[in-house]
Amino acid sequence: MNSFHGVHEIELANTKAFYIDGSEKILVDTGLKPLHNDVLNFLSKNGYNFGEGGFEFFKKGSHHTILNFLKKNKFKVDVIICTHCHGDHTGNLAQLKEELNVPVAAHSADIPFIEGREKVSNPQFVPEELQKHFDVAPCKVDISLKDDEFFNEDLRIIHIEGHTKGNICLLYRNKVLITGDTVLGKNLLNPKMAPEELNLSAEWSCFSYKKAWDNLPKLLNYSFDTILPSHGLSIKKDGKRRLEQLIKRRPEQLIDRVYDTIPIQEKCIKPDRQRIPDEVKRFVWKRDDGSCVKCGSRERLEFDHMVPVSKGGSNTARNIELLCEKCNRKKSDNII
Ligand SMILES: [Zn+2]
Ligand SMILES: [Zn+2]
Ligand SMILES: [Zn+2]
Repeated sequence: MNSFHGVHEIELANTKAFYIDGSEKILVDTGLKPLHNDVLNFLSKNGYNFGEGGFEFFKKGSHHTILNFLKKNKFKVDVIICTHCHGDHTGNLAQLKEELNVPVAAHSADIPFIEGREKVSNPQFVPEELQKHFDVAPCKVDISLKDDEFFNEDLRIIHIEGHTKGNICLLYRNKVLITGDTVLGKNLLNPKMAPEELNLSAEWSCFSYKKAWDNLPKLLNYSFDTILPSHGLSIKKDGKRRLEQLIKRRPEQLIDRVYDTIPIQEKCIKPDRQRIPDEVKRFVWKRDDGSCVKCGSRERLEFDHMVPVSKGGSNTARNIELLCEKCNRKKSDNII
């Protein structure tokens, strides 16, 4: 068991949960639920790196590992805190809340997603028809967290919007920063990273990749030495310096700047046939040079179907162009 100043790691294949052994006993995140066979087969076929024993682990899910960890160490739990609403962190939340009979806490902006009133976007590396298997049982959240509050005398909540709307980091005794997916360390899916390196979570996994970068420097206002990401190697010391190095690597132009004008809810409830795949968006953005093809404007850009989907237009790059909001409205006025 890896421990850092009273924070214990619970290894869950390529993910982690944490146990904070402080004035309150806190379980942070709950790992993945068991993955459906169709998903496992798809991942295997596509060369997904499960790592040693990972396949069997994903099949079983994280629930037993967490319970066994608590039992073996005679750890009790007072409360579960969720770093954010994604399924690899909330996969066993409803079940563990009930079994441990404890309250659940999360940032206010992610509560609608955890409670199932809004839909979390599922991993986009699996085909549409498999995405439903990532849906997680909704769970009632009892405690609504806000930025910069002290959860107790040991633990501070830091809201870093970007990975999700209500994504948080937990700062324990000004020593240990539990980051959730705010940053990640070297891991099976990012094997080229150096052992002490940090990076942002993949662009496709973020509500707003741009905000995830923009809000990162906020963490430098706090003092900490150890960084514990949910995915990948922990940074035992000098964490702040590692974070500064990452912040310096911020890309100058972030091509997804257009996404953060689309509320996540809209992204999720759009009918599937309207949804433009991310790789197509990226291709179109580059091809059209990040500007409106009609007037050259670089503001308020939208991906427009030249032939509307309702009239048989496809979701391929040939049928999609970048238009600014103004030109797009003009165009739809003409059609009507
Ligand atoms: Zn996440
Ligand atoms: Zn995650
Ligand atoms: Zn325009």
